[in-house]
Amino acid sequence: MKIFCIGRNYAEHAKELNNPVPKKPLIFSKPQTALVRENRPFFYPEFSNDIHHEIELVIKISKLGKHIAPKFAHKYYNEITLGIDFTARDLQNELKAKGQPWLLAKGFDGSAPVGKWLPIEEVRDVNNIDFSMTKNGETVQAGNTKDLLFTFDYLITYLSQFFTLQKGDLIFTGTPEGVGPVAIGDRLEGFLGEQKLLECDIK
Ligand code: MG
Repeated sequence: MKIFCIGRNYAEHAKELNNPVPKKPLIFSKPQTALVRENRPFFYPEFSNDIHHEIELVIKISKLGKHIAPKFAHKYYNEITLGIDFTARDLQNELKAKGQPWLLAKGFDGSAPVGKWLPIEEVRDVNNIDFSMTKNGETVQAGNTKDLLFTFDYLITYLSQFFTLQKGDLIFTGTPEGVGPVAIGDRLEGFLGEQKLLECDIK
């Protein structure tokens, strides 16, 4: 199983970190050991003093595909949930400054909690999904997929030019603005519309 992540897929988030708005999807990945199943805690790692939350919609690939045509892309995912792309921002800034890969800052153990999966049919319009995250009960991030720079279908087509997509692969589709630090004792909750799909305590 592969975990793909999309960076800077909401323009307002790219701007808040002083990054350019990309013309092509910015792709990175996390190892399987980054995954945290539904509602398990996140353990603050020793190597960072600035772990940030990034709430993201996550889609799950439903069948094998390579070179997927745009008109068929919607047939290649069948479940959706919320996930957090936890990021060691201090480490990422160091790596970015040296032009090095982000893997250590983005792919460490536990850096990818995901919530309860919903069948995609339960979402009325994938290009108009409201989602949000609260930290200790206060909304810190909110987005809508109409603001995506690259839609789910576009991402599937794009990724499948480089990688064979396999059943069970995940795509973290990018975070809206409002990323920020977490601290031990915080409680994060993720909502798709009004529905809570994710809970994550920072320990
Ligand atoms: Mg992200």
